[in-house]
Amino acid sequence: MAGIGVAEMKARLLAGCDAIIAAEERLTEADRAVGDGDHGLAMARGFRAGRQALEEKPAEAVGDLFRHLGMAILTTSGGASGAVFGTFFMSAAKPLAGAEATAPALAEALRAGVEAVQARGGAAPGDKTMIDAVMPAIAAAEGAGGAAEALQAAAEGAAQGAEATKAMLAKAGKARPLGDRALGHVDPGALSLSLFLAALAEPAGDG
Ligand code: ADP
Ligand code: MG
Repeated sequence: MAGIGVAEMKARLLAGCDAIIAAEERLTEADRAVGDGDHGLAMARGFRAGRQALEEKPAEAVGDLFRHLGMAILTTSGGASGAVFGTFFMSAAKPLAGAEATAPALAEALRAGVEAVQARGGAAPGDKTMIDAVMPAIAAAEGAGGAAEALQAAAEGAAQGAEATKAMLAKAGKARPLGDRALGHVDPGALSLSLFLAALAEPAGDG
């Protein structure tokens, strides 16, 4: 079975955290254009704590890793993104109860995550949020055969989804009052999600 086990997923998730931490300045710039400029700081803080939780907390199922990551982000990140990304990862954990993540389970995890974000924050697809990066990631992952291919496809879908937010008007969050001045600018949260999934799609370190 072409699944991804706990050790490999842990390495991939750590790489995802590192990608967010490394992108702090870029995320800050993105949020300066359409928000209040705190996104890079909030995300770096949350994913640094998430990184530490992944290193320190025991995980038997792949979902345990996502739960640790989400919990750490939720409790440290602050801002809308702390609640949004924390909720996303914690809810994505549920379909990943096994010791290996399969392609269908990964697609299901993305779906569970985004459904929880929608239920909690009230934003919908097309509102220019990270949801617009997740939706095409799910669609792409659903067509994949193996778990590694699913992550690769999800990363490509998310990149396209983030790019597409440039043409959207914001209907949620701090970019909303900008009206059409938000046009041409990527949504910071969608950019974060796509950078995270791009790192997740890289085969883990020494494997
Ligand atoms: P804040 O908006 O509190 O300044 P951040 O700047 O850290 O928080 O994060 C902003 C990002 O959070 C947005 O770019 C968007 O992707 C995401 N976001 C904000 N509100 C929502 C929501 N209701 N649903 C989904 N994502 C949201
Ligand atoms: Mg902000």
